[in-house]
Amino acid sequence: MSGHAYVGRFAPSPTGPLHIGSLIAALASCLEAHHQSGQWLIRMEDVDAPRTVAGAADTILRQLDDYGFTWEGPVLWQSRRLDAYRAALDQLREAGFAYPCACSRREIADSALLAPDGAHRYPGTCRNGLPAGRKARAWRVKADTSTLAWQDALQGPQHEDIVETVGDFVLLRADGQFAYQLAVVVDDAAQGVTHIVRGADLLDSTARQIHLQRLLGYPQPAYAHLPVATSTTGEKLSKQTLAAPLDAQSPVKDLLRALTFLGQQPPAELASESVTGVWQWARSNWRLAAVPRMRQQAI
Ligand code: GLU
Repeated sequence: MSGHAYVGRFAPSPTGPLHIGSLIAALASCLEAHHQSGQWLIRMEDVDAPRTVAGAADTILRQLDDYGFTWEGPVLWQSRRLDAYRAALDQLREAGFAYPCACSRREIADSALLAPDGAHRYPGTCRNGLPAGRKARAWRVKADTSTLAWQDALQGPQHEDIVETVGDFVLLRADGQFAYQLAVVVDDAAQGVTHIVRGADLLDSTARQIHLQRLLGYPQPAYAHLPVATSTTGEKLSKQTLAAPLDAQSPVKDLLRALTFLGQQPPAELASESVTGVWQWARSNWRLAAVPRMRQQAI
């Protein structure tokens, strides 16, 4: 824990190089942390080994450097934090909040419970003990809580009833990998993160994360979810949709594009500035309040 009043972070998953969408999240979280005289940390979310792409983490760190980012302290690597995740799972298990589950994906898909968005909600089959003769595949946390409500600095008041939307969710997957929801909550607490600024595609993870923070006795950070950059046809720009990786040839242009997307109004003259010049302007002029309060926006 740093003891700082404001600790922010950028937590990329190394599944490919940064693209304009990830630059937006990096830039907003960094500028807001500086604006609040806080610290800004980097965490490499390589907990999901099967999805991690060799070399992507190094590429991301090099790109951040090329684009003029500086961060506090060493990068935290999730792949080196498995003992901490195991300890958190043990804590939940000992308190009776987590239980082993034998259900296969197919069994869950075949169950009748559907979440309001049509996704499959865990029916609770193994909640009161593994069925006779079945072996544990995964570990789940009980989602028995009343509707969770929180305030998002950009998206306004939020609420979610995780009993209805996801049910008891996975903490340790059948393939032996810890789930993102557990890793992120354990690491945000360990790093003393007080403010989370990230894309609105993670808004629907927030209630699950708050639930875990409460069960583990961690403080709840403040949240600000940025609009997600989409193509003009409304498709989210992501590594999965093969958004073009950032090209170190044009950092100034990309930084200005990201600032404009974020509702800041960089003057046209900045186009002929250096990366340092753009950062100087951005640090003196950044206003979180100017960021559009939308879940997605075309870039
Ligand atoms: N690693 C996640 C991603 O790249 C972000 C996690 C977070 O900001 O909480 O989508």
